[in-house]
Amino acid sequence: MGVKLAETAGFCMGVKRAVDIVLDIACHKGGKTVYTYGPLIHNPQTVQLLKERGIVPLESIDQIEDGIIVIRAHGVSPLERERIREKGVEIVDATCPKVASVQAIIKKHAALGYTIIIVGDKEHPEVASLLGYSSGRGIVINDKKDVAPLQQHDKICVVAQTTQDSAAYKEIAREITRKFPGAMVFDTICNSTEMRQAEIKKMAATMDGIIIVGGKDSANTRRLAAISQDCGTRTVHIETAEELNGTDLSGFKNIGVSAGASTPNWITEGVIDYLTHNQRETVPWKLRGLYNLWIFLLRTDISSAIGAGFLSLASMFLQGLGVSVSNILIAALCVFAIHTINRLQERSFGRIQGSFREGSYLQHRGSYMTAAITSLVLASVLSFLEGPVTFILVGFISLSGVLYNATVWGKRLEDVPGSKNIFTALGWAVVTAVIPQVSVSLEITCSMVVAFLFVFVLVFSKSVLSDTIDIQSDRLIGRETIPVIMGEGRARILLKGVSILAGIMLIAAIPAGCVPSMSLGLALLVPVFYIWICMELCDRKVRFSRMELEGLLGINYMIAGLSACLWFIATKI
Ligand code: SF4
Repeated sequence: MGVKLAETAGFCMGVKRAVDIVLDIACHKGGKTVYTYGPLIHNPQTVQLLKERGIVPLESIDQIEDGIIVIRAHGVSPLERERIREKGVEIVDATCPKVASVQAIIKKHAALGYTIIIVGDKEHPEVASLLGYSSGRGIVINDKKDVAPLQQHDKICVVAQTTQDSAAYKEIAREITRKFPGAMVFDTICNSTEMRQAEIKKMAATMDGIIIVGGKDSANTRRLAAISQDCGTRTVHIETAEELNGTDLSGFKNIGVSAGASTPNWITEGVIDYLTHNQRETVPWKLRGLYNLWIFLLRTDISSAIGAGFLSLASMFLQGLGVSVSNILIAALCVFAIHTINRLQERSFGRIQGSFREGSYLQHRGSYMTAAITSLVLASVLSFLEGPVTFILVGFISLSGVLYNATVWGKRLEDVPGSKNIFTALGWAVVTAVIPQVSVSLEITCSMVVAFLFVFVLVFSKSVLSDTIDIQSDRLIGRETIPVIMGEGRARILLKGVSILAGIMLIAAIPAGCVPSMSLGLALLVPVFYIWICMELCDRKVRFSRMELEGLLGINYMIAGLSACLWFIATKI
């Protein structure tokens, strides 16, 4: 089964802007309650997450007493705005600029004596807000046949709800101009809606099946499903990946996925991961075992442990130390234990939303905890055998890692902005670069500093890139990762900067004698270069599932270890 995700799937500009505004307010609200007038978006999962962050959706203006009220992307009528103002609460306007421009057209033409025909769903909040600007001169219609019963009017202005089906609007507008030849018709359908609809039509023509992801009460999502169905393509409209359980997808060779304007990307990614998981059957049988193993290692975080082992090996070569299996195991066991315990803790906060690991962690919670504790004990025993300093370091890193999500004296390390990316990289750098050195000598060598920084950059880059993909969900749950703080663009610039610095450091370390040989320094430029490839892979234009991307990012640790191993083998031949 081939899976293709629509380029236009997910949050439109207006929804993204509204969500960003609300989340910014949530961070700086002081003690005030933040209300949204109606659910911010038509997506129950996101609304629930917002509630957990203290952002309360209101059904009626009467429910509000004090605090801050956010007007969502659909806007409100002038009358409602006045009623909110009378309540004396702070108003933050997140009306989409495109909706606001339709409101302005209506206001202007109503003032000039035009009758306003709004083509849209009468019950939709955007239409209610538009109607409010017509000063009582508005009529809402939704179908061609609604045109005939309309009374004669001198001046007619026609607008559409921004998420209407563009073909249907054109037909209705044609019918109106036939009856009222002087009618002024405005094309107010939003570009993002038109592009989304055009893409789904194109996809429906080439795919065996289409999956539309988004709230069942979201008008634009339902419309996408209807357009696809009208093309004669089997279409499934779901809210989350779980709804695919029990859906027979066996007849689908090629499946297209799109999502409504209010569907968060992690929900769509959950669907892509589900479909990718099922597409294993189509992997040639000779490779299927390998593919299944890869997926298993990724889901269980054993891949992180293997990555730490490879980085430990690369660090040993970089520092000119002998290969120590014990230190490789310490790195792998520590990383596995800390990652697993953190994920289990996150799960208990309800944090893993749509993650491809979620199912596995939920199903085998006890086994994961047992494996993590066993790993910690084994790492402690091995480090004890290596010496007291190694033992203390492993104890310190393990404790910091395990307590990362825990609340100590009312504070959590996790709440320090950017801490996830920085502490992850620091922890990995200590267990893979410092421990091999301190097991031999307590001297701080320039080789150890180079190895430490080399590992730090690789792990930091992977962590930041991973969080670039999760930026939407991280913002919603209030996790301040570096991409959330800096924005995706600046985070990428930062990664380019640190990777260039890492390359310069490796090259400069050769004449400084901090690297055992020039060829090793050059070989280790390969994983530094791979960071740039990873940036391309994470680009939205390159379509991989979240699970595949995670695997491709993690491969860099293996590339580092193998580059060092190949150098070692080459020097022995
Ligand atoms: S669909 Fe268009 S008009 Fe509606 S909220 Fe999104 S960007 Fe704004």
